[in-house]
Formats: sequence, C-alpha cells, structure tokens
Amino acid sequence: MSCGLRVARYELRATRYGLWKVLTRNPYLKYTMTTQDLIEQEHQYIMQTYKRFPVALTRGEGVRVWDSDGKEYLDFLAGIAVNALGYNHPAIRETIQRQSSSLIHTSNLFYTQNQVALVKMLADYSEMDCGFYCNSGAEANEAAIKLARKWGKGRFEIITALQSFHGRTLAAITATGQPKYQEGFEPLVQGFTYVPYNDSNAIEQAISEKTVAVMLEALQGEGGIVPAEPDYMKRVVELCREHNLLLICDEVQAGMGRTGKLFAYQHYGIQPDIITLAKALGAGFPIGMMLAKKEVASAFEYGNHASTFGGGEFVTGVALTFTKILLEEGLLEHVEQMGSLFIEQLNVLKEKYASLIVEARGIGLMVGLRFHESVSALDICGAARENGLLTAIAGSNVLRFVPPLVIQPSDIEEAGSILDRTIETFA
Ligand code: PLP
Repeated sequence: MSCGLRVARYELRATRYGLWKVLTRNPYLKYTMTTQDLIEQEHQYIMQTYKRFPVALTRGEGVRVWDSDGKEYLDFLAGIAVNALGYNHPAIRETIQRQSSSLIHTSNLFYTQNQVALVKMLADYSEMDCGFYCNSGAEANEAAIKLARKWGKGRFEIITALQSFHGRTLAAITATGQPKYQEGFEPLVQGFTYVPYNDSNAIEQAISEKTVAVMLEALQGEGGIVPAEPDYMKRVVELCREHNLLLICDEVQAGMGRTGKLFAYQHYGIQPDIITLAKALGAGFPIGMMLAKKEVASAFEYGNHASTFGGGEFVTGVALTFTKILLEEGLLEHVEQMGSLFIEQLNVLKEKYASLIVEARGIGLMVGLRFHESVSALDICGAARENGLLTAIAGSNVLRFVPPLVIQPSDIEEAGSILDRTIETFA
C-alpha cells in the first residue's frame, strides 16, 4: 500500500498495562492514545453536548463490557435500551457478515426485500397496516407529527405529557414536556399543549377544535420510568375516539420487547393509530420507524416525507434478525420472567434501605429505583459503576435499568449484590 490517500487500517490492542494503543499503517495517522489522551481529544474535537462517564469502553460480550483498563462491567444500561441481545450475539454477527457482502444501501428509489419483510412482521404483531422508515427515535416522532398534521387537514395541535421525552429535533423537543430541553431553542414549533401524565381530565380539558392527536409514552422512560395507569390509557383512547383524535404511542424506548410485550401499549389492551420505534429495533444499528393504521397513513402522498438512509437493506436485515429472535424464540416470556425477578430483588433492597429508597417500579426490563432526596441517584450510579455495574439515571432521582433482554437469573443476582454493596455505603 502506498501512503497518502490509501485507506487507513486500525488495530486496537490492550496492553497488559491497561494502555490502549491505536496503531495505523498510515504514517500520517500513526499515534498512541491512552485513556487520558482520548478524554482530552474528545473534549477538544467533539462538541461538548454529552456529559460522559469517565470510562472508555473497548469490548463487549454477552451482557458484559470491558474498559480500557481491562475492567469488566455487568451492563444494565445496554447502550440506553438499544443492545437488546447484548454484545457479539452470533445471529446478529452472522447477519452483519452476510448482509454486508450482498447489499448495504440502495436508496428508496428501488425495491428491497428486508425492509418489506420487517415492516410486515411488525405490522402483523401490532395490528398496524404499514410503516415509514427513518434513522432514530426523534425522526420517527417527526414523521408522526407530520403525518398527524397532514391527516388533520388544518387541525394541528398535539397534546403531550409533562415529563415526556420524544427526542431532540425541533419538533421533538417541542413535543417533549420538559422545558429544560427547549430553553434557548425558541421559537419552538407551534401547536403543542402539555398536560400532567396519568391525568385524563387534563387531556379532556386541553382538547380544542384544533387538536389532532394525543402523543404519549405508555411507560415514560427519561421522565423517570413511570408506567401509565390502566384506567388512564383506556380513557385516553375513549377521548381520542370521541373527538376524532389520533393516539400516537412513542415506543422508542419501551417498545421492541423491553417490557415483555412487543410494545408497551399492549399491556393496556388498547390500539393506537400511530406508533414510533427506534433504539432496540436495530440491535445496535441506527434505525427508526413509524407504524400507522392505513386510513391515517393514506394522508401521506408521494413526496410528503422521505429519508435517504431510511430502511436500508443492511440495517433492516439486522433488525429483522432481532425481531425474529424476539418474537419466535420465546424472548418476550423471558423478559417478563427476568423483569419480575429483578423487581423482587429491588424490593428486597427497598425493605433493607427503606430510609434511602422510595420505590422500585417499571414493567419487564425497564425498571427504575427511586431514591429519597437525601441521597443522589447519580452518586449511586457512579458508585455502582465503580463496583462493576453500568446503569444511568432518569427523571427525578431515579436509577434506571434497561439491561439486554437476554440477561439470566445469575446476572440479576449479581446486579442485586453489587447494588446492595453500593447502597450500603450511602446508608
Ligand atoms: N422517544 C423516547 C421515548 C425516547 O426515550 C427517546 C430517546 O431516549 C427518543 C424518543 C429519541 O430517540 P433518538 O435519541 O433515537 O432520537
């Protein structure tokens, strides 16, 4: 290979001293990077929109990841509810290899197999009729907002819940019922009204002649792992039917098996008009999707919406493999069982540390542990990480657990004992 424009080849190697070396055969790019260098260069070259944990992850296997010092972590965060099958899953690896040597991307000017097979499978299991592909949760919600407006023929207001989270595009932050995500980005998109979550009277009062839809998470994620109450969801559906409104369920975090059903709204025996998906759908690859009922979807005409990368053959191939495993290999039942076991474990901790823990809550493997104000969930999260367990926080003082769906009872036991050891030091 000659130097200059040739393709650089990187090799990542952990030395026994815990230093990570990034080596390249391109002499112009040759350098060695320690974790400290990596952190400094990240600060210099990457826009500082993320407050990262002080850990450089280098490898994953099953439900575990390793950092640049070779330290092992049990991962109860899974890339924030993305890595549903954990790391290096053989079926995903095989699909990646197979698909990358046939087609990766074609554009939506052509027909391709996987995108049709995937949407068909998801539509069948959700009683939806058709879908639109994009690349993230925010984009899926953008698509839903556009579709609702087009369907509404002049009605454009969307009612969303306080403490909700719908993503970071301009319309999605406007839909998000948390001012902290909106400040500094005004003027926001018009036509959003916010009401308290789990309060159907508030929705009823907020409906106007301009209202076109209600947009909700059946289980709020970023808002603090707060499940909807069954009566609330039923009443929301009634209100939507009475006022000819669309019900949009944001399943970006809670969907794709996370709660033990394919979609979280299915716990409530209701049927939305539009659902939005992303996160776990691509088993680690970026993909977003909106599913809708035919009579709603028909409001979109040729050219009304598009995405260059949306529904690429590679990513839909990976998503199809994951969806088949989820639906055809008993994974949903497994999530339900593991979720019950985990909540049981957390309730034992709640009993033991009653002065620190308010409650354990959630559905399936989307679980939160809420702490009293006397202790910071963020500090617990940091201490748990030191002790080898990865988690994150959400809402007000809640430790959030969204592990790979493939965790086993022994992983739950281990997570419980790490948490016990960690919380003890705060007691
Ligand atoms: N909707 C919900 C419920 C989410 O939890 C998130 C992300 O956390 C989003 C939308 C935005 O998804 P993305 O970050 O893929 O745009």
